[in-house]
Amino acid sequence: MTVNAPARTLLELSAVRAAYDGITVLHGVDLTVGAGRIVALLGPNGAGKTTVLKVAAGLHPPSGGRLRLGGRDVTGVLPGDLARAGVCLIPEGRGVFPNLSVRDNLWMMTFTGRTRDQVEDAAYSRFPVLAGRRTQLAGTLSGGEQQMLALARGLGTDPAVLLLDELSMGLAPLVVADLYERVADIAREGVAVLVVEQFATAVLKIADHAAVLARGRVPWQGRPDGSLRAELSAHYLGSAS
Ligand code: ATP
Repeated sequence: MTVNAPARTLLELSAVRAAYDGITVLHGVDLTVGAGRIVALLGPNGAGKTTVLKVAAGLHPPSGGRLRLGGRDVTGVLPGDLARAGVCLIPEGRGVFPNLSVRDNLWMMTFTGRTRDQVEDAAYSRFPVLAGRRTQLAGTLSGGEQQMLALARGLGTDPAVLLLDELSMGLAPLVVADLYERVADIAREGVAVLVVEQFATAVLKIADHAAVLARGRVPWQGRPDGSLRAELSAHYLGSAS
């Protein structure tokens, strides 16, 4: 958990709307993430969580509202340009190349100008378990190791904003807790982190702020506490009906 001093806002979505094939799925979403802060975006299936991340990464154009990065309006900026400006999305499903070795997966990140050694050293110092597996095919790593590799690849771009989609998917609770400790370390280095999760428990241990997304709207956001639990159960039960 970070200190309570105000953090410089790095990522800001204001009144963001988004649609697929004319059907609106985000109806005016407001979210901000400060440097060194972790914001958890929680909500049931189909609420629009992944769409929020896609808008933030420039992968889906908003149909209304604004996206700002470090105070600069970047609405409509292409994903490659947002990536170069410091936005990194780790998609659901880990974002590694299963048929390439750990080392080859990392070497692909040299497009940012770092050498192969620099990218590998940074990855192995953060995730030592990957060092012993550098020649192993990424697809044969455990689920947790694959997530570590995905994080290491993402960090190879030296992001200012890290967008994480369902980091915990399919992983055992202890593995998830360990991964979120690493995410907390990343935030302590000043990165703004926006984490999407369907189930809240693990991420709330490290989140500074939580937002509930339900049917494309944010009915509640604030510090994670008891009222968040009540809000979540209302929306999760609501979504099942
Ligand atoms: P989950 O937790 O199930 O991954 P989510 O909260 O991330 O869900 P989104 O994936 O953002 O939700 O989807 C929000 C809505 O938009 C859903 O109704 C979904 O069916 C729809 N949707 C998402 N992607 C597309 C697409 N490419 N084309 C059409 N509709 C889409």
